[in-house]
Amino acid sequence: MIKNTVSKISVLLSVILSLCSLQAFAISVEDFNTLNELRLKDFAAFRSRVQSLEPATVDYSKKTHNYYSLLKAYEAVTQADYTNALKFALPVTNYTEDQAVGLRAKSLVANVLIISRDYAKAFSYLEEIKSLIHKVADKRARNHGLNVLSLVYNRVDHYELAYSYSNIIYEDPGSTTEKCHSSFNRIEALIGLNNDHIESEIRNSLAVCEEANEALFSWLITSLHMEFLVKSGKFQQAIAIYEGTLDQPQLNDYATVKTRIYHQATLAYFGIADFTAAETLAKKIIQESRDVLLSMPVQSSYYSLYHIYKNKGQPRQALNYFELYNEAQSAYQNDRADRLLAYNLAQGEIEVKNQRIALLDKDNEVLSLQRDLYEQEAKQNRLVVLILAFVLVIATTLAYRGMTGRKRFKKIAEYDQLTGISNRYHFNNQAKIALDYCENNAKPAAVILFDLDYFKNINDMHGHATGDWALQRVVKTCRNFMRNNDIFGRIGGEEFAVVLPGCQLDKAVLLAEICRDAIAAIDSSDSGIKFPLSASFGVSGSDTSGYQLKQLLADADHAMYRAKEAGRDQVAQYRPASPAV
Ligand code: GH3
Ligand code: MG
Ligand code: MG
Repeated sequence: MIKNTVSKISVLLSVILSLCSLQAFAISVEDFNTLNELRLKDFAAFRSRVQSLEPATVDYSKKTHNYYSLLKAYEAVTQADYTNALKFALPVTNYTEDQAVGLRAKSLVANVLIISRDYAKAFSYLEEIKSLIHKVADKRARNHGLNVLSLVYNRVDHYELAYSYSNIIYEDPGSTTEKCHSSFNRIEALIGLNNDHIESEIRNSLAVCEEANEALFSWLITSLHMEFLVKSGKFQQAIAIYEGTLDQPQLNDYATVKTRIYHQATLAYFGIADFTAAETLAKKIIQESRDVLLSMPVQSSYYSLYHIYKNKGQPRQALNYFELYNEAQSAYQNDRADRLLAYNLAQGEIEVKNQRIALLDKDNEVLSLQRDLYEQEAKQNRLVVLILAFVLVIATTLAYRGMTGRKRFKKIAEYDQLTGISNRYHFNNQAKIALDYCENNAKPAAVILFDLDYFKNINDMHGHATGDWALQRVVKTCRNFMRNNDIFGRIGGEEFAVVLPGCQLDKAVLLAEICRDAIAAIDSSDSGIKFPLSASFGVSGSDTSGYQLKQLLADADHAMYRAKEAGRDQVAQYRPASPAV
C-alpha cells in the first residue's frame, strides 16, 4: 500500500515536473508516454493534466498539437466515448512528419473501430500499422501498434499471429507496464492455441502485472484464467478464484472485467450443478449489462437460465429465456460473421494490392518480425558490426584464397555462375538440412519446382545469349518473393526448385502463383527482342510427401508435368493418388 502510494506520488511528481517544462518546450515523447501511463493508473489525475494542456494556454507546435489531440483521444477511449476518440485521433493519422505519432493515431483508431464493431474500416489500417512498426524507432509507439495487431488477430481467431505480435513486446518490453499489457493478448492467444503451459504463463503474467501495479490488467488476466479453468472442466478452481474476488471492492471500478469474471463463475457453478448460485450470478450479469445484446456473458447467462428453469420444471420461464438467448446468440453470431467477413475482405484487397506483403504476413513467423524489429533498434550497431564483419570476411577470403585454392573452387562451385543462386549440389545439401530441421521441430515444409516453357524455342529463335538473359531475369524476379530462409536453387538447365521451411502447402501454391504471374509479366523487350516467357510449376508439401527431399522433388515434378500437360503457364499441386478400392 505504502509502496503504491509512494510510486503514485513519484509518477505524479515526474508528470508535474515535466509539465513545468511543457510551457516552454512543448510536449516531448517522454511527457506523452508518462502521461499516457498515468491514464490507466489514475485517470482523474490524467484528466486534470490533460485539461491543463489546453492549446489556448500554451503556444504549441504542430507536433505538440498532435500529441495533445492524441491525449484527448486516449482520454475519450478510457471513458468509452468512441465518437470523440475518433474525432480527436483521425486527423492525427494524417500527420506524416513524425511517424511515431502517426503510428499511435492509427493504432488507436483501429482499436476504437474494433471496439465499435466497424471491422472493415479497422482492418484497412492494419497494413499501414505493420509497415510503420518497421519504420518507427519509438519503442512505446511500436508496442502500441503491436498490441493492437495482437488484439485484432485474436478477434479473428488468428491466434498464432496474435501470439507472435504480443510476444514480441512480452519478450522485450520497454517497461514492466508494457509487459503486463502485452500479456493479456498473449494469454488470450495461448488459450486459443491450447498451449500446454497456460497456467504457468498466467502465473508469470499476473506476477508481472502485480509488479507493475496494474490492477485492471491483473483482473483481465484473472478472468482469462477462469475461462481456461472452466474450459478444462476445473470448475472448483474457477469458483475459488471467483470467491477470492468477493472481498475485493476495487473490482467494482472495472465493470466489464467484473462481468467477465461473473460470467466464468456462472459457467463454473453450472458445471458443478449449483444452479442456485448460477442463477443468481446470471441474473446479476443481465441486470448489470442491461441491453448489451452482443456481449458473450449476456448470451451465455440467458442460456444458463434457460437450462436452470428447464430443470426446475418451469417451461414458460425456460422458453422465455431460450428466446432471449436465441436473440442474443444471433446478434453475437452476426457480429462475429461481420468481423470475419470484413477481415477476409480486407485481406483479399491487400493481397491484390501487395501480394508479397500479404504472403509474408500470412506466413508470418515470429522470428522474421522480431528480426526486423531488432534491425530497427540495432541499426547503428549492426552497421558497425557489418563493416567489421565485411572487413573480416575480405581478410579471411584473401587468406583463404592464398592458402586453399582447392577449397575456394569448391565454394565457388556451390553457386550457379549464371544466376547466382545455389546449384543443384548446394541446393540439395541446404535443402536436406532445412527439411531435417522442420521434421525434428514438427514444422511443415513445401517444395516448388518450375521449368520454363518452350525454352528451347527461345534459344533456337533468338540465340543462347537471349536465353541466358531470360534465365537471369526469371531468377531475379522470383527471388523478390522469397524469404531469407527459403532455399532457391537451379537444379537443371532451365529448371528451378525452392524449399520453403515452415510453409504450408497452400501458401506455397500461392507463392508459386505469384512467381508464375511475375514471370509471365516479365517485359522481354528489355533484352532487345520481344518474346513470350512463362513457366510451369509443381508444388508438393510435407503433409503428403514427407520430409525426404527426393520424394518432395519427385512429387513436385509429377505435379509440374501435369501443369505442362494442361497447357503450361500454370501451377499444379501434388495430389496423392487415392488408394485403390
Ligand atoms: P517445355 O515447355 O516442355 O519445358 O519445353 P522446353 O523447350 O523448355 O523443353 P526442355 O525443357 O527440354 O528444354 C530445355 C532447354 O534449355 C534446352 C537447352 O538448350 C536449354 N538450356 C539449358 N541450359 C541453358 C543455359 O544455361 N542457357 C541457355 N540459354 N539455354 C539453356
Ligand atoms: Mg522447359
Ligand atoms: Mg527442362
